[in-house]
Amino acid sequence: MEEKALKFAACVIGALTLVMGAALPFFPKFRTRLVDAKEERQAQAEYERQQQGKMQELEILDELPQGQEDARQLKLRLPEDVDGGRITVVNDYVTQCVRIEVPGADNAYFDSYPIVGSSNHIDRLSYSMGNGGVSGSAGAGVIEIVLDRVYELDMDYDDEFYYFDFLTPKEVYDKVVVIDAGHGGRAPGATKQGVMEKKIDLAITLELREIFQERGDNIGVYYTRTDDSNPTFDQRVQLANLSGADLFVSIHNNSLGNGRMSDTNGTQVMYDESLEQSLKFARICLEEVTASTGSKNRGLIEGDSIYILRNSDVPAALIEVGFMTNQRELELLQTKEYQRKTAEGIYRAIRRALKEI
Ligand SMILES: [Zn+2]
Repeated sequence: MEEKALKFAACVIGALTLVMGAALPFFPKFRTRLVDAKEERQAQAEYERQQQGKMQELEILDELPQGQEDARQLKLRLPEDVDGGRITVVNDYVTQCVRIEVPGADNAYFDSYPIVGSSNHIDRLSYSMGNGGVSGSAGAGVIEIVLDRVYELDMDYDDEFYYFDFLTPKEVYDKVVVIDAGHGGRAPGATKQGVMEKKIDLAITLELREIFQERGDNIGVYYTRTDDSNPTFDQRVQLANLSGADLFVSIHNNSLGNGRMSDTNGTQVMYDESLEQSLKFARICLEEVTASTGSKNRGLIEGDSIYILRNSDVPAALIEVGFMTNQRELELLQTKEYQRKTAEGIYRAIRRALKEI
């Protein structure tokens, strides 16, 4: 009897799983959340894999030598016979991690020459010996500084020391904007007829970057990705929050929940209701992108359930440029001309929003 009951329960569970699997495409919100959760796990795993180099904690000597009240924030002694020009520094804004490669710096160097300065902006300081792999070239020591916010570096050196100052983006630029190309890496986004959304999102972003470079305004623009990487949702939104950005734009493309090709087409913009300025910014994005591309205006959509919108401290808009499930838009979205028009629309929206909201 008990065995029968168990078999019956197994059958019911099996049937329910089948029904839910088949019904999933008809509940787009639930489906979106499942897809999002999967993407986030993948992105986190990719990030952790990159972090696997063996790092050792490093201390900062917090006292500055006498008579150096105007001293720089951080001082690094150059190893003997190493010219400051050979030091390479990479500032990864997305992870707030600064990687400094010092040729000729070995364990003895790190033991005898502490880094001198203020630890005000520093969350973690560590070093590893280069092994020619991801963490650095052989024979070089790699110092990693994890900062508490996004900073620009002001660097300088003399015969003895390499100097670092940390400046907030607002100390360097009049305005600050963060651009987020959707998906990336092993998360392709919507895929139709072999075309991956992540590639279109990135292509539009790179057009936008070109426009910003051409115009030369004093706007600091930070990108969550300019290649096929896949930052976590949290890294994406924190780039906006920790850089003190004025605006945050995420670029995506749409598809119908059931994935079928259809007549449905046009641009829509999502925003979070809790920030009034987000609504204004979203409206400006919608107006400018549809004006520039000639696409149908599908209106504004409340996007409180979207992680990067919900967690943004700054006015944010997520633009769904077009539908990949619409044959005409799928083809348009792949052309450089349409990508450029979209980017021009977003650029105009940003310029307008920086004045109006
Ligand atoms: Zn997307």
